[in-house]
Order: sequence, then structure tokens, then C-alpha cells
Amino acid sequence: MKIAISNKVMDKMFEYAAWANHHFGTEIAGWGHFSEENGIYKLAPLPKQTVKGAEVDSFPTEITNDVNYDISDMTVQWHSHVEMGVNPSYTDKQFIKDALEIMPYLISIIVNVKGEYSAEINIIESSGVRFDEPLSSKVELVKYYSNQKISDEVKQQ
Ligand SMILES: [Zn+2]
Repeated sequence: MKIAISNKVMDKMFEYAAWANHHFGTEIAGWGHFSEENGIYKLAPLPKQTVKGAEVDSFPTEITNDVNYDISDMTVQWHSHVEMGVNPSYTDKQFIKDALEIMPYLISIIVNVKGEYSAEINIIESSGVRFDEPLSSKVELVKYYSNQKISDEVKQQ
């Protein structure tokens, strides 16, 4: 499956991953927003997080407790694997299971500091129908750009 993603969102995840590695030598995790129309169009504010062993705990209680923050389409979870491969770990799979208890679907993205990523979508409920097992699909992220200045520059030159 292909999912569109703003190049700004893509860049930001890699930049967070690089700074987390620089400052702490650890992974980092956060959330993002998805809509049918704009794909993955923005990241949620970076949640406070603590590192437990190899994985970070970033369940966004801080964000979900903020009644002024719209989480209705906050269905993207991302995290970094620092310098390792981008395949989901046992903890990552467990996280997806837990998230599907409270969300109809989850888009999961793993990045690393080498510029690699992997992404998948897991759907437990669609059009009000709940499945016994989540439907799972690998996702190819297709970047899109929205910088009007560069668009104009290309047109002009
Ligand atoms: Zn992981």
C-alpha cells in the first residue's frame, strides 16, 4: 500500500532521530496525523519520554490528556532504531496490539540515522466492522512537497 507523506514530516522524523542520537545515543518516538486527503500531513508535539532498555516509552498521555488538542486523526506512531535495522521488534509488535485496543487502525513508521525507514499499517476495524485479527500491510511512503517558493522558482527558470 502507498501512503502520501509531507516531505516536512519525513524530514522531521529523521531530524528528531539524529538529535536523539546526538544528545542521548538513544531512540526517540512520537505521533503523527493522517487524513485521506493529505496523507501523513503533520507530527504531533513531541511527547515526554523515557528510555526503557532498547525501546522508548512514548505513550502520549500528555497529548491525549490535553482536551484542546485534536487527536481524532492522530493515527501514526513513529520511532527510531538509531543505527540498527528498521524491522519492528517484539516490543513494537506488542505496541501495535495495544494501540489497536483503542484505535481502529495504526500506521507505524520506524526510521534510523542512516536515512532508512520501514512502515506498515494495521487495521482492526473498518466501516464499523471489527476483525478477529488485524489486517496488516507493508506501506511505501510517497513524499509530497508543498513549498510554493520552490514550485514558482522551477516554473520561472
Ligand atoms: Zn522499535
